[in-house]
Amino acid sequence: TNPSAQPQRNSPSPSPRLTPKTSPKLMSPALSEISDPSDASEGEEDEWELKKKDVMRKLKGVDQQAAEQILNDIVIHGDPVNWDDIAGLDQAKSSLKEAVVYPFLRPDLFMGLREPVLGMLLFGPPGTGKTMLARAVATESKSTFFSITASSLTSKYMGESEKLVRALFQLAKALAPSIIFIDEIDSLLTQRADSGEHEASRRIKNEFLVQWSDLQAAAAGKNTDADVRRVLVLGATNLPWAIDEAARRRFVRRQYIPLPETATRRVHLSKLLSHQKHALTDEDIELLVTKTEGYSGSDITALAKDAAMGPLRALGDALLTTSPDQVRPIDVNDFIASMRTIKPSVSQNNLKTFEEWAKEYGSSG
Ligand code: ADP
Repeated sequence: TNPSAQPQRNSPSPSPRLTPKTSPKLMSPALSEISDPSDASEGEEDEWELKKKDVMRKLKGVDQQAAEQILNDIVIHGDPVNWDDIAGLDQAKSSLKEAVVYPFLRPDLFMGLREPVLGMLLFGPPGTGKTMLARAVATESKSTFFSITASSLTSKYMGESEKLVRALFQLAKALAPSIIFIDEIDSLLTQRADSGEHEASRRIKNEFLVQWSDLQAAAAGKNTDADVRRVLVLGATNLPWAIDEAARRRFVRRQYIPLPETATRRVHLSKLLSHQKHALTDEDIELLVTKTEGYSGSDITALAKDAAMGPLRALGDALLTTSPDQVRPIDVNDFIASMRTIKPSVSQNNLKTFEEWAKEYGSSG
């Protein structure tokens, strides 16, 4: 937590945040059909504004300011991620399809024993695509995507956080199907809740668990509106062992997102190079695939970005007067040189800890 974080109070007048900063492409269900981001027009913006007003009008007993804050800061509209944007992770993708995407799209087929889960955890080393997967799930299931990191919930919104948590769940139900994505969820559901932890953090954790239980209880009810069953809490963490046991059990599915395997690294590297001027042969790429064993997805992205600077670095000040077509292509030596500084960010030891946790607590399949 950030000790300097001040309790955040909303301004009494409609907050300036109400004015959209950009012209976002919307991911809320009714608007997800819009396909070309370059078309993101005022029409879409108006549509989202109308939808927000409509939801605010219908919701009863929700803290108005918290709801506005969520609609403006926490519902994500821009840059939808699709399955194809994510290299590899086939097992995780199919598990997410079965647990979330298909049930959300065909609630009529997923009832009774086939009821969708209300909690799913993505765990694994940092930079392996957990956030990307969550975003892709939201896009592919045409869900409203609520995204927040646990630390911003406990610091940025300190003082307002409980209200915010309540409003978050109420809005998620109102805008269902919804995904509530909480990154770094370990810091919200930590085991050390009683040992000198901030009283405020403990209250937020409790409120979160209460709201989540209510959702689970409502979904279990016979006459429940199908929409309540289409609200998923999707948590991501690099520290799954820090989550307390009771909270852990609520994540019915716990999906391990490992470091990329050989085939995944090949796809990822090829994708990164596909729109670049480069001179790498298939053999060069195979060499890099081998040499990047132990790299995470984000390490590979960082490596490729650094290697892409190679041809420009070689120019020195001449860069200022060189035309783009005279810049030499990226080659394998640029990658090899970048490997001296861009190293795997996950240690072997750390990896072992993940694998052991996955064996003990992960969902198979
Ligand atoms: P995590 O949430 O697991 O820490 P992210 O999903 O935020 O990781 O990924 C960080 C960055 O790493 C992404 O923005 C992307 O550039 C890259 N990346 C990681 N994994 C993949 C993957 N499987 N396919 C494509 N890019 C990836």
